[in-house]
Amino acid sequence: MAGGLKLYNTLTREKVDFEPIDPDTVRLYVCGPTVYDFAHIGNARPVIVFDVLYRLLRHTYGADKVTYVRNITDVDDKINARALRDFGGQIADGSMSLNEAIRAVTGKTESQFHEDVASLGCLKPTHEPRATDNIPQMITIIQRLLDMGHAYVATGSEGHEVLFSTASMADYGMLSKRKLEDQQAGARVAVESHKMNPADFVLWKQSADTEPGWPASFTFEKTTTPIYGRPGWHIECSAMADRYLWEEIKDRLSPKAKAKPHQFDIHGGGLDLIFPHHENEIAQSCCAFDNDLMATVWMHNGFLQVEGRKMSKSEGNFVTINELLATEKFGGRQWPGEVLRLAMLMTHYREPIDFSVKRLEEAERLLAKWPAGYAGDVTPDASILEALADDLNTVAAVQAIHALAQAANADPSKLSLFAASAALLGVAPKKAEVSEDLSAAVQALVDMRLEMLKAKNFAEADKIRDDLAAKGIQLKDGKDKETGERVTTWEVKR
Ligand code: AMP
Ligand code: ZN
Repeated sequence: MAGGLKLYNTLTREKVDFEPIDPDTVRLYVCGPTVYDFAHIGNARPVIVFDVLYRLLRHTYGADKVTYVRNITDVDDKINARALRDFGGQIADGSMSLNEAIRAVTGKTESQFHEDVASLGCLKPTHEPRATDNIPQMITIIQRLLDMGHAYVATGSEGHEVLFSTASMADYGMLSKRKLEDQQAGARVAVESHKMNPADFVLWKQSADTEPGWPASFTFEKTTTPIYGRPGWHIECSAMADRYLWEEIKDRLSPKAKAKPHQFDIHGGGLDLIFPHHENEIAQSCCAFDNDLMATVWMHNGFLQVEGRKMSKSEGNFVTINELLATEKFGGRQWPGEVLRLAMLMTHYREPIDFSVKRLEEAERLLAKWPAGYAGDVTPDASILEALADDLNTVAAVQAIHALAQAANADPSKLSLFAASAALLGVAPKKAEVSEDLSAAVQALVDMRLEMLKAKNFAEADKIRDDLAAKGIQLKDGKDKETGERVTTWEVKR
């Protein structure tokens, strides 16, 4: 790749040359969805953006040399509330336990998420761990933090809590550049009396009977306190990143990587996660493992907005991925996944996107001009590699692919280069699938048109051709070489 890969690092606020700690095991962690409800198209943005990065890293370092972890957050108070809302009756009459109700909510949401992101052309990450499958790992890190003087046990209005002590970390605030003193001085909310510092955050919290919980006990200042409870929001990512990007693979890492224990290459997510989520992940991981860095590069995608406001569940201005793909809720029609994907990539990942029907139409028009149904087993064109190497400049990459598409339309020998390049963005257009029923219906109309032409009923014949064209089906007339008779073939154009 000419000049190497450059990525904008939120930690240093500048574009940096990307150098993996171990190029034979490039390590990427991205915060995944909270599965209390179907994902909206704003949530699709980080999934698509980091899928492009994953593809680029696989291309650069080798497909089997990149470990990509994207977690599933399946413990959260919103999930609990949803389980009580949807299954409260069954929980009350004893036909369902709280845990079963929670699994019912998260299981359905998670499988819909997988279906959605597959429709958007995203590769599966190497690992997709659920928070609830990593509770022992979280408890271990929390105890380490207690042992090292970075956490304490306190009792608040809802019972016992283990809290992270922000004052115990000299450079707390390194990612968001928020200074602890400013937070203290500016704290408008009354400090909860059990917190040593208003910025201290929950690592573990006692659960009531109506809340999900796990048995745990923590030792602080020689006293062991059993706390049946649940993790705070941030600890899961510290635990899962360390398990899959260090603990389980450390034996096969290079000596240089072994000399930087518990650190990995890239951590990503949306802009809203910089504070507090990523700041607190850094605090937990750096303090527990006595490191200066958790990940070398921190990347954040901008918001997908509607009329200038971030699309979010709480604003109520959201369209789910599934609604966009499978219903007529947005713009009165369904949209193919590849159109949504291209529409996202037509803006640089750090810029906000104002989402509109116009934008989807623009992406669809562009895709329609690209050759469909080709695979390329050649190296992608240098123009697209260069564009992506510049902090994932997908805007320039889309332009480069469009130029390759035009060249391929004029010269079929370039189809493979086009397809391999488009595949790097994950936007290689597919040929439309035609069902047997549609195929039979179209063939009947094509035969009818041939009859009309034989009868010199040209107006009717042309009408059939035009009606089919309006439905995206193009007819091509030719001659049978032996009989000289007219033969008509057809194909589905998008
Ligand atoms: P959540 O399920 O809310 O935790 O979000 C999952 C991911 O989607 C996180 O990386 C968020 O930063 C990201 N995200 C949420 N809303 C938007 C949005 N409107 N635009 C871009 N990214 C978003
Ligand atoms: Zn996270």
